[in-house]
Amino acid sequence: MIPVKDAEFLILDLVKPLGDYEVVDLTQALGRILAEDIYSNLDFPLWHNSAMDGYAFRFEDLQQFATLAIAPSDIPAGSSQYFSITSGECVRIFTGGILPDGADTVVMQEDVEIISDRLHIKILPKLGEYVRQKGEFYQAGTILLQAGIKINPAEIGILASTQNQKVNVYRQPRVSIISTGTELRDLSHNSCQKGQIIDSNQYALSGLLTQAGAVPISMGIVGDRPEDIAEIMIKALAHSDLVISSGGVSVGDYDYVDRVLADLGANIQIKSCAIKPGKPLTVASFNHKIYFGIPGNPASLMVCFSRLIKGAIAKLSGANSAYWYPQYIQAIALDDLHAQGRRETYLWGFVTANHNHWQFQPISNHISGYSSGNLISWAGVNALAILKVNQTYIPRGEIALVLML
Ligand code: AMP
Ligand code: MG
Repeated sequence: MIPVKDAEFLILDLVKPLGDYEVVDLTQALGRILAEDIYSNLDFPLWHNSAMDGYAFRFEDLQQFATLAIAPSDIPAGSSQYFSITSGECVRIFTGGILPDGADTVVMQEDVEIISDRLHIKILPKLGEYVRQKGEFYQAGTILLQAGIKINPAEIGILASTQNQKVNVYRQPRVSIISTGTELRDLSHNSCQKGQIIDSNQYALSGLLTQAGAVPISMGIVGDRPEDIAEIMIKALAHSDLVISSGGVSVGDYDYVDRVLADLGANIQIKSCAIKPGKPLTVASFNHKIYFGIPGNPASLMVCFSRLIKGAIAKLSGANSAYWYPQYIQAIALDDLHAQGRRETYLWGFVTANHNHWQFQPISNHISGYSSGNLISWAGVNALAILKVNQTYIPRGEIALVLML
């Protein structure tokens, strides 16, 4: 049974980024991983310009003149007319308007008064105030966005302002999903016979993968028969970059996944992990491809994926190392948290903000609430409190380490 931290390192070490990229329209780039460093040959801002609606003038003039003459025309945003002011003069300017030659400071209109056509400045600005200097935000030729970052809305805006209509992004990993279990039925069978259950893992996993930036490929359900499992595994490995199956990795008579993997020549890297829920997690490698065999219980799927697989998909996708690890916070436990202490235990629940701290509410006080078979108890869950090996108790009011989902 390998410790969770060791499993994390081993898995990340096995994963090699795919590296293939494709060109997409900027409007389709949201959530994708940037595949090239982006530079611009433009400065930002492009010109010295005003950050306020107000008046542009020469700061030095305040030493000499009590009031300033107001130039006859003004400078709205978008005006390209050349403009300069002389000593003792100011000009009406609007946010985004190009600063005229001779001016170095802007006073906002709320701080002035116009008396007999002359500008009285009531509140003295500092030198350079409300002027956005050319190149202050970004200098042409320096690096603007680094390959390996995730393109979020802000990056979309940056790429638009630097006129990148097309973007090079990494290809999304294709991940096959296999559901093993003779008891499973697809959702399209609208009723289950006694003893049968709906294959919910396929749907939940598909959601997890999409959120993680992968393309899920459903391989459907396979019963607990070694020949059938082998056949579907071979097909899945051929059609995808990574394969995830659920079920059949435990020690029961009908758990064939590990045996079939070994028969197919896989390198079994992890047979079980000190994680609760999720102990029988199997990780295997076939040359460059990785196979995750997750135990079938729905909570095991959620925990194993969030703690150990999500980061692997980020690395496979070409995302930089900032995306390979879960995000943790410290939160005050709103109820006692219990664990047996033999494995690192993940308790699902709800994180909320309360004034200046985070707080974690476990799903319930009832032991049965934390059954790994209880998917219903995951409704609305957004976080996992962690109790390390040998840590059996975190009392209400104490700080817990929490993984954000
Ligand atoms: P296993 O890991 O195959 O021993 O399965 C553990 C438990 O998870 C059993 O109760 C299974 O019926 C259930 N289970 C397995 N696969 C799925 C699935 N795809 N969707 C929902 N429950 C599952
Ligand atoms: Mg099974």
